[in-house]
Amino acid sequence: MSDKNTKNEKMEAIVSLAKRRGFIYQGSEVYGGLSGTWDYGPLGVALKRNIMNLWWKMFVEDREDVYGVDAAILMNQKVWKASGHVETFTDPLVEDLNTKQRFRADHLLKDAGFEVDGLSLDDMTTLIRENDVKSPNGNPLSDVRTFNMMFKTTVGPVEDETSVSYLRPETAQGIFTNYRNVVDSFYPDLPFGLAQQGKAFRNEISPRDFIFRSREFEQMEIEYFIDPANWEAEFNNWVVLVHEWTDALGLPAENVHELEVPEADRAHYSKRTIDFEFDFPIGREELLGLAYRGSFDLDNIQREAGKNMAYVVKGTNTKFIPHVIEPSFGVERTLMAVLSSAYTEDEVNGEKRVFLKLPEHLAPVKYAVSPLLKNKPELVAKAREVYAILKKKHGNVMWDDNGNIGKRYRRQDEIGTPYCVVIDFDTLEDNAVTIRQRDTTEQKRVAISEL
Ligand code: ATP
Repeated sequence: MSDKNTKNEKMEAIVSLAKRRGFIYQGSEVYGGLSGTWDYGPLGVALKRNIMNLWWKMFVEDREDVYGVDAAILMNQKVWKASGHVETFTDPLVEDLNTKQRFRADHLLKDAGFEVDGLSLDDMTTLIRENDVKSPNGNPLSDVRTFNMMFKTTVGPVEDETSVSYLRPETAQGIFTNYRNVVDSFYPDLPFGLAQQGKAFRNEISPRDFIFRSREFEQMEIEYFIDPANWEAEFNNWVVLVHEWTDALGLPAENVHELEVPEADRAHYSKRTIDFEFDFPIGREELLGLAYRGSFDLDNIQREAGKNMAYVVKGTNTKFIPHVIEPSFGVERTLMAVLSSAYTEDEVNGEKRVFLKLPEHLAPVKYAVSPLLKNKPELVAKAREVYAILKKKHGNVMWDDNGNIGKRYRRQDEIGTPYCVVIDFDTLEDNAVTIRQRDTTEQKRVAISEL
């Protein structure tokens, strides 16, 4: 079996587990689905929140210099004109001339083995013509053209050019538009950061690879405002912080790679960008980005909105428009990296076992509590007592009395529960329970008072 097949099998196994066990479902599935959208079930939302809360704690709460904001998703259309999104937030599109199905030209070419970085639309059309590249349906392709990925809508009852707005394609602009507000309210020393988590929408030409490329997703972004003189040191510091973050997620360091984006592929205003890539089961792909954006965004706002974006260094007459370092994290790609690192198969007592080796602090359920037999009221009552104690203390505790104990273990393994607590007849005598550890399957007796 080829490596690619093995990897895709792993991806399929994760997608199927995610659905079966209540992590992630296809969006609008009962109505036949809506491509590029995903719904989170009870365990998925718990895992996602744990990731987002960990991020918020690490980058906002635990730091003195980062402030949180939560901007509206709908923004004045001028935001997206000034930022360049209306003009240039595009992907290269080709059409199957027979079926009219549309594809991302760079993805088709890459899949056909061509190097696509830095190619213009014309270059891609030429490559397609010269090599007779066909659509995945085997049909001829159109010329390559641009496709704007923003979802357009209108705000209010009148539909005209002035009421046009967009679902934000990134959270970053909601940060930049609040830079002046926060400086006026708090006057933080430089460097300081503004952080935001929230939904972003991109009308991806071909969403694919599970939640990796979807049309509605969530971002966690920081704009870190700095004195331009210090940009290199500040950038390097963020490289270290990104690695601390991937460590905190339990991602193996050897699967996280830094890709220095070459000048030709960087935005014109960026002096340095690193894409952090991860070895997903679908291959090595971008997990998050770290970019030095200079003063591009604040300059745009100052010019287009006519508002002063300068920062006056406290106690001096020195003023300048701060530059920014932007770490931009995608929640879904993070979740997919966490799930694929955690997915493990082994053998227990000669039987194949699937379990999620999730770090304890991310696991959607930390403890599952079971009475050994569910038809013995005295065991159930005692187990309920233990459950109440743990639930009060940890919150994410599950009551599980379905099937026999072996089945419960297998189910809890599959959702990554680190500890199963079982109440048996001895518990009634000695007030101790059996705790079974997920990764080792080891069982220990522990006093209830020590749980
Ligand atoms: P790609 O090149 O893979 O399309 P990008 O470079 O356009 O990604 P950015 O604009 O840098 O992505 O967005 C920052 C982060 O947001 C990405 O690193 C990724 O984690 C996440 N992201 C972007 N597009 C999507 C998407 N369609 N689905 C899920 N996550 C996304």
